[in-house]
Amino acid sequence: MNAPTTVLPTVVIGAGPVGLAAAARLVERGLEPLVLEAGAAAGSAVRQWSHVRLFSPWAEVVDQAAEKLLAPTCWTAPDGATYPTGGDWAERYLQPLADVLGDKVRYGATVTGVARAGRDRIVDAAREEQPFTVHLTTADGGEERITARAVIDASGTWSTPSPLGADGLGALGEKTAADRISYRVPDLKDPAVRARYAGKRTAVVGSGASAFTALAYLADLSKEAPGTHAVWILRRGIGAHTYGGGEADQLPARGALGLAAKAAVENGHASAVTGFRTQAVEQDGTRLVLVAEGDRRLDPVDEVIVLTGFRPDLSFLSEVRLGLDERLQAPTALAPLIDPNVHSCGTVHPHGATELSHPEQDIYLVGMKSYGRAPTFLALTGYEQVRSIAAAIAGDREAAERVELTLPETGVCSGGGLLEEPDAARSDTGGGCCAAPATVQIGVGAPIASGGC
Ligand SMILES: Cc1cc2nc3c(=O)[nH]c(=O)nc-3n(C[C@H](O)[C@H](O)[C@H](O)COP(=O)(O)OP(=O)(O)OC[C@H]3O[C@@H](n4cnc5c(N)ncnc54)[C@H](O)[C@@H]3O)c2cc1C
Repeated sequence: MNAPTTVLPTVVIGAGPVGLAAAARLVERGLEPLVLEAGAAAGSAVRQWSHVRLFSPWAEVVDQAAEKLLAPTCWTAPDGATYPTGGDWAERYLQPLADVLGDKVRYGATVTGVARAGRDRIVDAAREEQPFTVHLTTADGGEERITARAVIDASGTWSTPSPLGADGLGALGEKTAADRISYRVPDLKDPAVRARYAGKRTAVVGSGASAFTALAYLADLSKEAPGTHAVWILRRGIGAHTYGGGEADQLPARGALGLAAKAAVENGHASAVTGFRTQAVEQDGTRLVLVAEGDRRLDPVDEVIVLTGFRPDLSFLSEVRLGLDERLQAPTALAPLIDPNVHSCGTVHPHGATELSHPEQDIYLVGMKSYGRAPTFLALTGYEQVRSIAAAIAGDREAAERVELTLPETGVCSGGGLLEEPDAARSDTGGGCCAAPATVQIGVGAPIASGGC
C-alpha cells in the first residue's frame, strides 16, 4: 500500500536559484523537499554563464527564506548594492545554500519523466489521490523512481535555446554550420574564445539583454583587435524601445546594457540590419552567408551568435495534465501578464500558486521555465512564486494568495510589445501593462541582512 501522500517529499527539479529557494521555503513550512539536480553542483546552468555580470544587485537575487537558512552558518552576505557575475551567484550564494540543505539536494540526478503513480495522462480514476512518480537517471547511468506528494519543476530553460531560424525551427544549413554558431554570450576573457572572435566579422542575432551584452563585449574587443566587427541582426525595426528603458529602467544595470549596445552601433563597432528573418545559412568558403525571406543576403560573416531566447523543455512532462498558453508555453493564467505580444513592460503582476496551477493538482512550473518563451523573468519573481507555492502545498491558502512583491519597471511601458507584430496579437488586458494591482512592497532593493552566526 502507498504511504499517505502527505508524508512524501516534494520533489523540486533543478538546484538553480529558484529550485533552491523553493526548497528553503518548503523547509520553512516544515515540509520535506528533495531537490534533483542534473549537474554536478548547485547552479549548474548559472555556472555556464559565470562570466556574465547580472543586471540585478545582490539584494535582488538572494531569497529571504534562503537567507534565514544561511544565517546560522557564518555565511558572509555579499554587499547588497553590488552586482554579482553568474559565477559569484553560484559560488557565494547557491552552493552555500545547497550545502545547508545537505542531503535534500541530489546531484547527477536528471529527471526524465513525471507522472501520477500508475495513471497515464488519460486515466481519471482516483487520479488526484495518487502521488507522483518521478523518473530519473543517475550520473552512472542508473535509473530510479521517486514517489512525491507534489512536484515543483524549476529546471529552467538554459539547455533549450531558440534557433536562428525566424520561424522558430532551425534555419536551412544551421546544423551544418554548427561549428561556427554559438547560442551563448561568449566569454571573451577566455583566450581561446577571444581568438575565435578577434578580428572577425560576427553576426549577433537577437534583441534582448543577452544580445546587448554580446554587442558590448565585441565592441570592447574591437578596440584592441582591429577588424573585429558585429553585424547586429534584428527581426524587427529599430524604434524607441529597441534599446530598452535606458536611464528610465528601475534596474540601472539593465538599462545600461541597452545603452552600451546603442553606443556600439553609434560608434561604428556594430552595424544594425533590421527586418531580417533568417531562413538559411549558406557556406561561402570558410565564411557563412545568412539568407532571409525574399532571398535577401548579407555579406559573409565568420561567426554567428544566436541570442533569440529560450524555450521550455516539456518532454519529461508529457504524462501530466498541464494548462499552457498556446503562444508562450507558460501557465494559462500567467501568460496574459507576461505576453510580449501584448505589452513591453517589465512590470509583471506578482503571482503565485493560483496563476501557476494546472489541471493536474500539485505540480507547478516555476522560475525561468514558468515564463515559457517570454523573456522578462527576474529571480525575484521566482522567489515570490515559490513562497506562495510552498504555502499552498502546506495548506495555507491565505499566505498562498497574498502578494508580497512589487517588481521593478523596465522604463519601456508606453505601448507596443516586444515582438514584431504587436498589433496582430494585442488584446485588451484591462488597465494596460503597468496597471499592477495594489501590492505590499518587499524585496526590491532591500538590503541583505549581514550574515551572523
Ligand atoms: C545571462 C543571464 C543573465 C541573467 N541576469 C539576470 C539578472 O540580472 N537578474 C535577474 O533577476 N535574472 C536574471 N536572469 C534570469 C534568471 O534569473 C536566471 O536565468 C536564473 O538562473 C533562473 O533561475 P531558475 O532556477 O529558474 O533556472 P536555472 O538557473 O536555469 O536552473 C535550472 C537548474 O535545473 C537543472 N536541470 C535542468 N533540467 C533538469 C532535469 N531534467 N533534471 C534535473 N535538473 C535539471 C539545471 O542543471 C539547472 O541547475 C539572467 C539569465 C541569464 C541567462
